[in-house]
Amino acid sequence: MSFTQFNLDSRLNAAIKRAGFIKPTPIQTSAIPLALAGHDLIGTAQTGTGKTAAFVLPILQKLLKVPGKRTRALIITPTRELAEQIHQTIGLFSTGTKIRSVAIYGGVGANPQIEALRRGAEIIVACPGRLLDHMQNKHANLGTIETLVLDEADRMLDMGFLPDIKRILRQVPKQRQTMLFSATFPQEIVQLASQTTNNPKRVSIGIVRPAHTVDHTLFPVPHHLKKQLLIRILDQTDTKSILIFTRTKHRAQNLLKKIKRTKYKVTSLHGDRTQGQRRQALNGFKNGKYQIMVATDIASRGLDIDGISHVINYDMPATADAYIHRIGRTGRAQRTGEAYTFMTPDDLVLVQKIEKIMKEKLPKKTLSDFDYTVPKPENQQKPRKRQPRTVTSQR
Ligand code: AMP
Repeated sequence: MSFTQFNLDSRLNAAIKRAGFIKPTPIQTSAIPLALAGHDLIGTAQTGTGKTAAFVLPILQKLLKVPGKRTRALIITPTRELAEQIHQTIGLFSTGTKIRSVAIYGGVGANPQIEALRRGAEIIVACPGRLLDHMQNKHANLGTIETLVLDEADRMLDMGFLPDIKRILRQVPKQRQTMLFSATFPQEIVQLASQTTNNPKRVSIGIVRPAHTVDHTLFPVPHHLKKQLLIRILDQTDTKSILIFTRTKHRAQNLLKKIKRTKYKVTSLHGDRTQGQRRQALNGFKNGKYQIMVATDIASRGLDIDGISHVINYDMPATADAYIHRIGRTGRAQRTGEAYTFMTPDDLVLVQKIEKIMKEKLPKKTLSDFDYTVPKPENQQKPRKRQPRTVTSQR
């Protein structure tokens, strides 16, 4: 299968070539023809599979085929970073056309977005909260939308965006094409899918399982020795590009401080940082200014960061699904990657769940030169209990 078989506009084919895409990925092979034929879609696709181009290319094709200067496509996505990333992908593929997209998200000034909306954009890529603000202030008009994409729907549910999405949907014409992507389908998403799609085709690239290009290792460790073990592992690892996940933003900040005292260049990405800081952290990590980024789960979905060699789960994620998304940040696009997970006695049940999904037992590793028997200092507080994953303010 090659991209030319989709019969896309020659400008899109040229952009695909420029992007260096040679063969469509499996999700693109199945989703693009259906989307081009105008079907509604419900897609199950792991991030890193080429999902973005699978919905962006059909949208652009549709806009080019029947030109029209109004807001015609709306893509709703959970995080600011994802909105920015999708907006950039649109920019990449629409070079040489007059199609404009605008990214709408909070944490940055509203005025440039209002200006862009006023100038006109055929595509809006938005996070729900800020989009609602613009709608209420009559800066965004969704009355001419022809295509709607709900990206990472389960993540939006987790982040409490479902009521916002429902309010947005009331302003979008019922006569439209809808594509909904989700990694998992809890009851609320099944319901959302049935409310928003019409006779949808299902595209799936199979069970959401981690990329086979990733090697997984568990590092059993008592809670109070995690920091020491991490530093020891960093010292023994080729630390080119390492993403470390913690459970809460406070733990991310604490760990950041600890790593900063060592020789490593480190940054952090979590919900307590301003949008400018988040962008600066992400760009610095992408371009190699920082070797290490400490992040909460805000960074685990969809972010397209090339060449991450290691993902370290300093804290076990709250669910097996979150584990898969976190380690999906490495081993992308046929590269190999390592996923290291710190495992305390409390994590046993979750490890078993992950092993069930992976259909394999994960190897455990202990460092021969690390003293695991150092007792907990008297004054060290008991770690706080794990928060349910819906408590997004922790991230
Ligand atoms: P996504 O799942 O949309 O975040 O895409 C993951 C990565 O795969 C991005 O860096 C894309 O640029 C890249 N990609 C998407 N489709 C293809 C393709 N057909 N060939 C090569 N790389 C691709």
